[in-house]
Amino acid sequence: MCRVNQSADALSRQQIQQRVDELGPWVHAFEFNGVQYFDSSARPPGVFPKAIIRERRTEDFWQVFPDVRRVLELGALEGADTVDLARRVGVEWVAVEGRPENLRRLEFVLELNGLRNVSLVLADVEAMDFAELGPFDAAVCSGILYHLQRPWDLLASLAQVTPAVFLWTHYWGDENSAVPYGRYLVKEVPETFPEPRLRGLAPVSRWLCRDSLFRAARDAGFTAAQVLAEGGEGPAWEITLALRR
Ligand code: SAH
Repeated sequence: MCRVNQSADALSRQQIQQRVDELGPWVHAFEFNGVQYFDSSARPPGVFPKAIIRERRTEDFWQVFPDVRRVLELGALEGADTVDLARRVGVEWVAVEGRPENLRRLEFVLELNGLRNVSLVLADVEAMDFAELGPFDAAVCSGILYHLQRPWDLLASLAQVTPAVFLWTHYWGDENSAVPYGRYLVKEVPETFPEPRLRGLAPVSRWLCRDSLFRAARDAGFTAAQVLAEGGEGPAWEITLALRR
């Protein structure tokens, strides 16, 4: 695990674009001072034709956890959520990301926005010791649980350092094609998503089925699970939960 420091710099539009190109390829575009930036590198046809602006989750988060001050974010990617969420006055943010190249882009985006209240940690969330970073008032766990081999362990680790988790995840919607794994029903899914920067760090992940997701949260010590949004089709469903210990 290593920490990265940021320093703020005033850059021209051209300089920003140059840094964006140097740090690319990017998964998402980002907006700064009314200008949209994304690198000019080619993407696999039909997959990610160009970088996209990511949907925002900021409002939902502050609505369910309005008073939190020290927050842990997992799988921060290029900081689309980080930049929005960590802007809040008085907030102290710790963002964990497992891919150094994603972390460099995240660092640049934070630098650009002058966000000095964010500490960056390069680590595999399945191998790190959360106690070294905690305690926290809340965690943001978005888009990472279904990239793990043992998602229930992550929930248990989080429960040791925070009473509240904002969780967005996929779950496996078809119990018939899932298999039991300990106390849980899971589907083993190869990490072959076309965009490699979004993948998990291990070659195969285990998607929890819906009941097992709630069971894993309860097993971890989160006694309340509030469903904020849910939907899907085929076996790949998605759910947004506010978990409380
Ligand atoms: N949180 C963002 C990004 C999700 S993509 C969102 O909700 O849109 C998943 C991110 O988690 C990627 O940046 C990937 O590099 C990172 N990641 C995947 N497995 C990880 C692991 N085991 N440890 C740390 N980061 C991981």
